Amino acid sequence: MDWHCHVDLYPDPRGIVKECVARDLLVLSVTNAPSAWAGTSSLGRDARCITTALGLHPQLAHQRHRELRLFEELVTEVNWVGEVGLDGSPEFLPHWDHQMKVFEGVLRRCTDVGGRAMSLHSRQAATKVLDILQVYPKAGTPILHWFSGSLKDLKRADALGCWFSVGPIMLRGARGRLLVGNMPRERVVVESDGPFAQINGSPLMPWESWRAVDDIARVWNTPVEETRERIRLNLSRLIESTG
Ligand code: MN
Repeated sequence: MDWHCHVDLYPDPRGIVKECVARDLLVLSVTNAPSAWAGTSSLGRDARCITTALGLHPQLAHQRHRELRLFEELVTEVNWVGEVGLDGSPEFLPHWDHQMKVFEGVLRRCTDVGGRAMSLHSRQAATKVLDILQVYPKAGTPILHWFSGSLKDLKRADALGCWFSVGPIMLRGARGRLLVGNMPRERVVVESDGPFAQINGSPLMPWESWRAVDDIARVWNTPVEETRERIRLNLSRLIESTG
């Protein structure tokens, strides 16, 4: 599986889809803007293993906030929302107001339509993302992608029932490993976040998200096969619960 991937942003998206189908890989193909929805969802239309999510990325909120209306319209057609959230890094902090307007708009609308599963960005904004999630408890199932908050935030996220999607790069640092070690094991799946996530200058491919499993097994001190099976079952449960 690769439960957070920007399939549409690889140089050859159709080739990526073909390869994912050949490998029978379950993929959550996230979008960064509602205007990209038509193109990105058409990529996965004939591939049962590809689920396309409707998103409005926080790093684009200041440029694309007018697309919130399109999001509100299209969200009735989807079970999955992403990539959405907040980004508190210095580069995007100046656009905080737009980010908040978009994120709250997304959660409000998800609540109105009965809840959606959501792949969430929370870079340097974990506390705030959790604060807002608490205001919209019926917005759906949150999946924190590439979570990098504090242990305290992690405990809070766990208590709120959040899921986590973890990628190979996250496991490279001691901090990431500490976080993964403290995640609820029944709510962890794996992701690549390709093509943004790169190792040695090459983008991670969707099928490389499995590299994370070896490291997760080490951190959890469980056999690799057992860890892989657990993560597989986690995703089945997640998908089942979202219909
Ligand atoms: Mn992403």
